[in-house]
Amino acid sequence: MSKEFEFVGGECHRALLDHFVGDGYDSRVYKNGDMVKRVYVGSGPKEFSPPGARTLSLYWEITNKAHEMFKDKPLVVNFPFSNEQYDLKFNPFIRMYRCLDCGYIEADSPYIPGHNLSVISGRFDQRELRVVLKNLSHELEDRFEVRGINLESVNLKSPEHRLLIVTDMCSSVAELKRNWWQLLPSTLK
Ligand SMILES: [Zn+2]
Repeated sequence: MSKEFEFVGGECHRALLDHFVGDGYDSRVYKNGDMVKRVYVGSGPKEFSPPGARTLSLYWEITNKAHEMFKDKPLVVNFPFSNEQYDLKFNPFIRMYRCLDCGYIEADSPYIPGHNLSVISGRFDQRELRVVLKNLSHELEDRFEVRGINLESVNLKSPEHRLLIVTDMCSSVAELKRNWWQLLPSTLK
């Protein structure tokens, strides 16, 4: 058992099976009132096995760091072709824990209303969005000294005019890693 997570008596995702809202490469998502619960089960083929506890712990760390950093002063994102500007914020994890009932790692976050950007037709040019999100992903990787951040339109919402909220920074959390020099003993840095 991993030591990275606090064991708390959260409601197991199995109590929410009727509230399934979607799945990704590594998690299934359930709505739970004004929260969403992710359960990191992986999906089908072996290459999409659940991310390990250490990787999820790092994901939790950078997600909440990004939330703290931009909650009061959002990151301003420029769309170079359409000349639009948006404020960007990050949805935090309220808690992440290994569920005592099912054994999987589960995580609770606030529910962000509305559709994701991949299905909002007309408001975004999907090609421009792809370019903007790719550049932004690299910028965030440099800022947090990690690799594997991959913002995708399906993982962003726009609950208010001129505001974007990232609901998942990594489309595949298993690819998230600290930069190699972060792993050196501090005497060599
Ligand atoms: Zn559970």
